[in-house]
Amino acid sequence: MISKLLLQSLSRDKLSVFLFHKVPHQCDPLVPADVSMARFERLLDHTFTALNVLPLEEAIKRLVAGKLPRRAACITFDDGYPDWLAGAAPALRQRNLHATFFITSGQFDGVPLWHERILAAVRQLPGPTLDLGIPFLPAQSVASTQDRRQQIQRLEQELKYLTLHRREQILQQIEGMAGVQATQVPVMSEAQLRDLHSQGFDIGAHTAMHPILDYCSRTEVEREIGGARERLQSIVGGGVHGFAYPNGRPYADFSRLHVDAVKKAGYRYAVTTNWGVADGRTSAFQIPRFTPWAERDWHVTYQLVRNLMTEPLQVPEVAS
Ligand SMILES: [Zn+2]
Repeated sequence: MISKLLLQSLSRDKLSVFLFHKVPHQCDPLVPADVSMARFERLLDHTFTALNVLPLEEAIKRLVAGKLPRRAACITFDDGYPDWLAGAAPALRQRNLHATFFITSGQFDGVPLWHERILAAVRQLPGPTLDLGIPFLPAQSVASTQDRRQQIQRLEQELKYLTLHRREQILQQIEGMAGVQATQVPVMSEAQLRDLHSQGFDIGAHTAMHPILDYCSRTEVEREIGGARERLQSIVGGGVHGFAYPNGRPYADFSRLHVDAVKKAGYRYAVTTNWGVADGRTSAFQIPRFTPWAERDWHVTYQLVRNLMTEPLQVPEVAS
């Protein structure tokens, strides 16, 4: 009750946007940080019942118009996972809650998410060490589950900030050592994407290959931002109006050039992974998001309250 009153008073003309990724029924021992379905349902039944959950595009319009209800919140997901169809999506529908799913379109053209490829390969590596012969990736143990977990984190960090070409080379090298084919990695199908869309959820774009945009050529940026939108629209047969920057941190992962490219590609809004709350001064093309990680309900509320008091970092935009 106290928390509801606190949220009520702090949330005037402010929009909290939540970000989730894969929501597995059972957490993978190699990725213990994933939000499980049990955790997710607990959030839906405790945290989100104290909030006014709105469709993201409508919420941004109301934010701009100064007509947002108190305790306004949106639910979003990034990347694209087949298990959403049997987990997060029905859990949301049961509770009549809207969400927006930002999808990487490469998976509909035979290219799974790059971090899912790391996970699949590291799981199968013979061990006891992973030695790629690459100076910035010295040999390390994969003898235990804990070691493999660390290697997954290390590879994600190191491969993230490479060109698409170099990242692909190293991914293929690891897959070769593990005896794993990229085609074995689970991806969303076009039918699953259409299913999600037909259930009333919004579909947004999250590039084709999930690169760091600041490491892309001009041609790659066009393909990743505009091309991904066209690909998704052709699958769902409807408009794709939102974009999520990969990795999503202003300055580190995208710049004003990319915000401009998103506008020119015809999107109406875009979301970052930068923490904080959107208010009347926030650009519709840099809406911040956050993921609560606490276990206990009071702690999630505390994180939400803290996020409501955090002003997001934004890159200056090219004047339109
Ligand atoms: Zn992503």
